[in-house]
Amino acid sequence: MKIPARKVLPRKPAEPDGWKPVLNGPIFCAPLCGRGCTKAEHDKAVENAAKLAKSLGPTWKPQVWENLGWHHCAVSPCGRLKVHPRLVKGSNCCAYLDHEGDSGGLWVARATTARAAVRAVVKQAEDEARRILATFWAVKPLVK
Ligand SMILES: [Zn+2]
Repeated sequence: MKIPARKVLPRKPAEPDGWKPVLNGPIFCAPLCGRGCTKAEHDKAVENAAKLAKSLGPTWKPQVWENLGWHHCAVSPCGRLKVHPRLVKGSNCCAYLDHEGDSGGLWVARATTARAAVRAVVKQAEDEARRILATFWAVKPLVK
């Protein structure tokens, strides 16, 4: 008996516009968020994202998103580095570094400034790359 090929249906997002913020007076919030985020919070996040990106250099891009509040960060031109701000005085900026196309942070570093956080996270990756290469070159001659 021949088994019929399984029909694959196109994927449909559960809530296509659920994360699209809706402006209603001073409220600018997505139905799936529901916190009651404001347009003023959004605008402040946009402004802070632009300042943060500018502090890192002209090619850095500001990024703003909503999830129980408006948040922001700056993204490197290659997309591998993301820097999150100091949220309150005395806290640290946080830099995340990952491979191209990966959105997490394989390496993470905190520092008092965005630039220092970037330097620290790149050094972490460099130190690890050095250790990986030392291991690689030590065992490579054993592989025939
Ligand atoms: Zn919201």
